[in-house]
Amino acid sequence: MKIKLHTQIVIALILGAVFGSIFHIDQNKLSINANSGETIVQDWSSIAFTKKDSVLKTYESKDQLSIIKYFSSLRIKKAAEDIVIKIKYPSGQEQIIEKVKEVSKVKTIGVLLKPIGDIFIRLLTMIAVPLVLASLIAGAASLSDLKHIAKIGGKTIGFYALTAVIAISIGLFFANVIQPGKFMPEESKQRLMETFQEDAQSRIDQNVSMNIVDFLVNIVPKNPFKAIADGDFLQIVFFAILTGIFLSQIKTEKSKTVIDFFEGLGNAMIMLVEKIMYIAPYAVFTLISATVAEFGFSILQTLLLYSVTVIAGLAVLTFVEYPILLKIFTKVPVYKFFKLQRQVIAVAFSTSSSAATLPVTMDICEKKLGVPNRIASFVLPLGTTVNMDGTALYQAVAAMFIAQVYGFDLNLTQQLTIVLTAALAAVGTAPVPGVGLIMLIIVLKSVGVPEEGIALIIGVDRILDMCRTVPNVIADSLACVVIASSEGELRELSNE
Ligand code: ASP
Repeated sequence: MKIKLHTQIVIALILGAVFGSIFHIDQNKLSINANSGETIVQDWSSIAFTKKDSVLKTYESKDQLSIIKYFSSLRIKKAAEDIVIKIKYPSGQEQIIEKVKEVSKVKTIGVLLKPIGDIFIRLLTMIAVPLVLASLIAGAASLSDLKHIAKIGGKTIGFYALTAVIAISIGLFFANVIQPGKFMPEESKQRLMETFQEDAQSRIDQNVSMNIVDFLVNIVPKNPFKAIADGDFLQIVFFAILTGIFLSQIKTEKSKTVIDFFEGLGNAMIMLVEKIMYIAPYAVFTLISATVAEFGFSILQTLLLYSVTVIAGLAVLTFVEYPILLKIFTKVPVYKFFKLQRQVIAVAFSTSSSAATLPVTMDICEKKLGVPNRIASFVLPLGTTVNMDGTALYQAVAAMFIAQVYGFDLNLTQQLTIVLTAALAAVGTAPVPGVGLIMLIIVLKSVGVPEEGIALIIGVDRILDMCRTVPNVIADSLACVVIASSEGELRELSNE
């Protein structure tokens, strides 16, 4: 019996999680690389970093992550030369390692297979830019006139704005009810701040700011080819829509070849996706296994209440808000809609990237959900770039959490500011892993919460990124179905 691809992917996801937890990275082992070679140390009672006989720092605990981060912070400060590590064991024995070059976790087979997953993500990402460009140009050109484009564009943006505001409100509701930041012990706060200080700083140094005027100005590319090379989705979308519109305005004999060219390019990309999906089960397996194997469960425990708040919000968004909207605006059965989204969900979850998932979303929307190409190719690339409900919700909860840990009580006006800035920050978030966290800095700045606070949540960002990317992409399919149905253009669903 042949198992269907989406079932294979779901099985791979589960097996990957099991494999990763069996071959998880040992929290009590460290690999220390020095001039003399690699030494694996485990079950130490203390580890001291010394330089020219003065002790820089001593760790009495098994805090593997803090030890690794401390050494990398020395490296960043260019103070890692001639470091000597002194390890004491419970038996009283001492070990000295000189001229240390690197301190890292001891990798297991759980993470060693990850390159297969990385190739999969790169293949999908490779397709995303040409697909957005080609399909948007062809899509905009096929919408018969300017009025039609404005109507569909208006509906799309309106729908995205509506879902984002509801998503953020759900996030704020959960953050106010659960108050995850109020229960964080001072000691955990200090430890997280110390461990992730450098990571937080490198994000703060990217100096993101959200000035609405600048934001709008920056949507217009100075050079569309640079936008394509840099993968700047908003600029590509802008250029592609304009090109498509004016292709539809010039004489057919001049425009037809160009439109055919982009249509052909788009079709080839979609076909490529279908082929790439054959390796999806293996890729998903290695990606999930690597995340589970590498993930520090101790951090998850420290940030349990915060993670639960985010995940509860995302669950309500996905399984309550979206079905309600689907019911209000379309006749598509909720169960069927979600069933047909399985591949999209699995790819979004394991890659944490809406851009990498876009080719799959497009394929499913057109082939399974019955959305005509001219709507899917317009609504989806736009949605992938600007519509990030999951990210917006996460940013609202994260801002509230950090404020609570710092002891700030955000009043109603400040929370309304969060609604506005999180909606904009999510629009500005690039559809790739981890950017939601960087754009969170804008939300924090807007309500005066210290931006260094992101150090508190970096440790669990990867797993929450996987979770928030799922509603980010489901919302795009939902918008596609809603708009196609409002235009009376939704075809029969696939009866898979
Ligand atoms: N990973 C998210 C996405 O691609 C963006 C983010 O929230 O970091 O949709």
